[in-house]
Formats: sequence, C-alpha cells, structure tokens
Amino acid sequence: MVVEVKVSTPYIPAAEPLYHWRQRWPHHLTPDGVAALARMIPQAGGERELIAVRTPFTGEQIGTVPACNAADVNEALARARRAQKTWAQTPLAERRAILLRYHDLLLRRKDELIDVIQMESGKARRHALEEVFDVVVNCRHYAYHGDRYLRTRPRRGALPIITWTWEHRHPVGVVGMIAPWNYPFTIPISDALPALMAGNAVILKPAEETPFMALLGAKLLREVGLPDDVFQVVTGHGREIGPPLIAGVNFVGFTGSTATGWIVAKQAAEHMIRCSLELGGKNPMIVLDDANINSAVEGAIRGCFSNAGQLCVSFERVYVQSGIYDRFVSALVKRTRSLHLDAGLDYQVEMGSLVSADQLAKVKEHVEDALARGATLLAGGRARPDIGPYFYEPTLLADVTPDMLTVREETFGPVAAIYRFDRVDEAIQAANDSPYGLNAGIWTRNERFGRMLARRIQAGTVNVNEAYAAAWASADAPMGGMKESGLGRRHGAEGILKYTESQTVSAQRIIPLAPFPGLNVHAYAWATTLALRVLRRLPFLR
Ligand code: NAD
Repeated sequence: MVVEVKVSTPYIPAAEPLYHWRQRWPHHLTPDGVAALARMIPQAGGERELIAVRTPFTGEQIGTVPACNAADVNEALARARRAQKTWAQTPLAERRAILLRYHDLLLRRKDELIDVIQMESGKARRHALEEVFDVVVNCRHYAYHGDRYLRTRPRRGALPIITWTWEHRHPVGVVGMIAPWNYPFTIPISDALPALMAGNAVILKPAEETPFMALLGAKLLREVGLPDDVFQVVTGHGREIGPPLIAGVNFVGFTGSTATGWIVAKQAAEHMIRCSLELGGKNPMIVLDDANINSAVEGAIRGCFSNAGQLCVSFERVYVQSGIYDRFVSALVKRTRSLHLDAGLDYQVEMGSLVSADQLAKVKEHVEDALARGATLLAGGRARPDIGPYFYEPTLLADVTPDMLTVREETFGPVAAIYRFDRVDEAIQAANDSPYGLNAGIWTRNERFGRMLARRIQAGTVNVNEAYAAAWASADAPMGGMKESGLGRRHGAEGILKYTESQTVSAQRIIPLAPFPGLNVHAYAWATTLALRVLRRLPFLR
C-alpha cells in the first residue's frame, strides 16, 4: 500500500480572483435584470414574502423572488390551460422550428447563460457549460425525432384486413415540473422540451436556491417564439406550492431527493395523475485490474467531483480490484490534491462551491462521522472558508464501514469512499447492495467484458470507461433510476411519450368481432377458434 495520508491539500489557486467576476456581474442579475425576470412570474395579486437568492461564491444576495402561494399557482394553471389549447393545434413543424431556434440561441449566448448558472449555483464554469450543452442536445433530439415518436401509427388489428387500428398520441395537457438546484438549467429545461414538443403547456417550480436560471430559460423560450403562458415559472417553497401544483396539472415530473419523491408520488396518486420521479443515487464506480489507470483516475475525478459531487449520477463508491489498487489510489489521491478549487468564472477552475450552508453542514457531518468511526482520510476533509463560505475540499476516504453516515446515505457532495475487491462477482454484489440504482461506471480495457458486466448492475445507466456523460448525453436512449432512484425515464421515446395520452382507434370492416344476430353461436365459436389457430401459425399475421 503506497498511499500517503496527508490532510493539508495544496490546491492551486485559480487564475481569476473573485473581484474579476464581480466586474462581470451578469446583466440578467443586475437589479433591472432581476426585476425583469421576476415580472414573468404569474401572480394573483397581493403582497408576497420574498425569498432571497444568494450566490454561493460569497454568500451575497443577488436578488429576490416572490414566495408564490396557491392562488398564484391557480393563476398559472388557468393561463396554461388557455395557452395549451392553441399550442396543441400548432403544427409539429412550427414546434420543431422553435426548438431549433432555441438550440442556436443557446449556443450563441452560452457565455451569459453560464455566468448566471455559476452565480446562482456556485459551480465551476466547465460544469456550467455541460448544462447548456445538455439542453442543446435535447433541443436537437426532440426537434428532429419528436414527430417520429408522436406520429399516428397503424397497429395490427384484431383480425387482419377486417379490423383496422391506429394509435394516436395526444398531449396530456398541463405538465408540472418540480426541479432541484444542482442543475438549474439542464434539468427543468431539458425535461420540458419534449413536453412542449408534444403539445403541452409546462409550469415549472424551480428550487428556492436557483430560480433565475429557470426564469432566464423561460425568457429565452419566448424570445424564440414560444407563445406566452405555454411555459411559466412559479417560484416559492416546495411544500407550499407543490401540493396545489400537483392538484392542478395532468402530469408531474419531479427531480429531487428520494424523500421528497415519496411525497410527490403520494400526491400524484391522490389526484390520479401520472408522474415521473428522478431521484437520488449512491453510484458505484468499478475499476478492474486491466483498466487504463489515467483514464480511470480522470473518470473518478469527473465522476466524484463534478459540480462538487452535487450530481445525481456522481460516484460516491469506488471499488478497485486488488491488482491495480495501490497504483490507482495513489494516482487518484495525487490528482485529487492538485485540483483547482476556486470561485472564478474561467475554465481553469476544476471544482466550485457547494450550494448552501445546509449542503456544507451535511458534507461536514458525513466526513466527521466517518473519521470518528475509524475511516482513513486520503485527501481533502476540510471546509475552505478562505475561498468562499460553502467550499469544501474534494475528499477521499478508505476503510469505511456500514455504520457510517456516508456509507448509508447519499452525501451529495465531493466525498467518495474507496473499497478494495478481489473477484469481479464481489464488486458486482457490492455495487448492487444499495437501495439506489441510478448510474454506475466500469473501467476496463476489455470493453466487451465491461458491457457484459454492465448488464448485471442494477442501475438505469451504466457507462463503460466514462463517468456519466456517455449515457446521459445519449438522448436517444432512456435515462433514469431503478429501485429508489426513481420511476420513469427521461430521454428517448419514454422521455416524450410519458407526456402524452395514447388513444387507440379501431374500425371494423365487413364482419363484426362478436356473434351477430342470426348467427349460430356454436358456429361463431368454431370459426373463431379456427381463425385463432391459423393466426398463431402464420408468421406474418401473428
Ligand atoms: P429536494 O427534494 O429537497 O427538492 C427538490 C424540489 O422539490 C425543490 O424544488 C423543492 O422546493 C421541491 N419540494 C420540496 N418539498 C416539496 C413538497 N413537499 N412537494 C413538492 N415539492 C417539494 O431535492 P434537492 O435537495 O433540491 O436536490 C438534491 C436531490 O436531487 C439529490 O438527492 C439528488 O440525487 C437528486 N437529483 C436527482 C436527479 C436525477 O436525475 N435522478 C437529478 C438531480 C438531482
């Protein structure tokens, strides 16, 4: 074992000090910009409590939004119902054109978007960039493939030639979205695009910490021609406006913690509406003996510390095979200690801030609990108030045990535990030993073997030689969680059809399916039995 245990971490300071980004304060977040965004929030009249939004980089207030109430949600619902009727009649080609204009606009104006994402969430610029790219990928996918998913399809009728059957897809009506703070642009906007393409209106409730990116996303949708009120944002506290929103919509798409997911699922059931739930994870990474060490180390860095570990698909458990363990862990510890941790608006910074004091407190609690119970600290393990109020070092632990908080629960921070294993079966068993099943990664030079192992892991996405982006950015394929990580999928056919009601229309020609008046029922039974036997034997009619 060659791992050197050292707590002090000589992080390289970022090239751009804090005062630089103060000079580049995004114009959307100036007092006028914030007021313009806040005017888009539907309000039923009267005074509202204001929620302060702060930048995690310094803790400074960047603006306020109203804490909407049930009356505001009802106002948004009424507007959405009116707007959706016209929107559902808009030809698919026109909806597609709006998505494509959005695609181009986002790429043109990505820098100003990234500035707002960073200010609001405190993430490093490279991770904010991923958010814009993700929305762009979804724009392209659903613009070009949406009509294929949605078009009316002929289906096999009950009786060949005699029964003609078609499947139609109708928008569900109004879709409610409830979003978390960790990917304030990607999650609500990428998930809304297929709902819009399918002809629905959307009402988004962003997280309290990050409303401005949702509002900016809505503003830009209007700029590219989306009619007013087809996409609205209501700001406020989830426990207050979540229930009236769920009560009034036809579908709810929730992304957030598993604990809140249970509440949302129960409320959706009470109103007999469908929901999709994108929830938490405790994702495993498996490094096999034959892995390319550099690639595996970079994969672990991205997988464990992207967005300071506040990423649903990030790795919090790293299983390393004995033959490569010492070399891998030593290289990973070295690389972790060299990470650029800072608050700058430049791409050099490799890890940004945690989002809030609550998040910092949780991460500290998990690490302190692990160390108190005998874990070994390999890297990090300290808050960094010298950089910003919620910064925490990327942290690696070894010798963790099941009684530790960080083993039992999702930490949702820059903390990963490293485990050693001998046999592949042990790693698969350990990876599956979790109530969650969101994402996993496998590193091996034998890609075929890796893909085979992937199928044994209980996770909605598994990446071979990649942390999360390969599966996530494959927008043609479903993405979501097994077990307590969720219900339903985003992306691909499932990601758009969930926002539709299917309708089967059948026309019966010549002979009715049931015995008609005057026909001997025995004769009917004999003829139908014969027909069923024939159908079973004719491959082209099955
Ligand atoms: P959270 O559950 O606390 O909040 C998510 C949203 O739900 C917020 O907008 C919040 O205001 C709202 N909310 C809270 N109580 C509500 C209620 N009673 N009814 C309706 N809405 C309510 O989650 P968070 O802390 O914002 O996000 C972190 C969690 O999200 C992590 O567990 C993470 O793994 C998960 N997440 C999952 C995915 C995924 O795709 N699976 C993606 C991102 C984040």
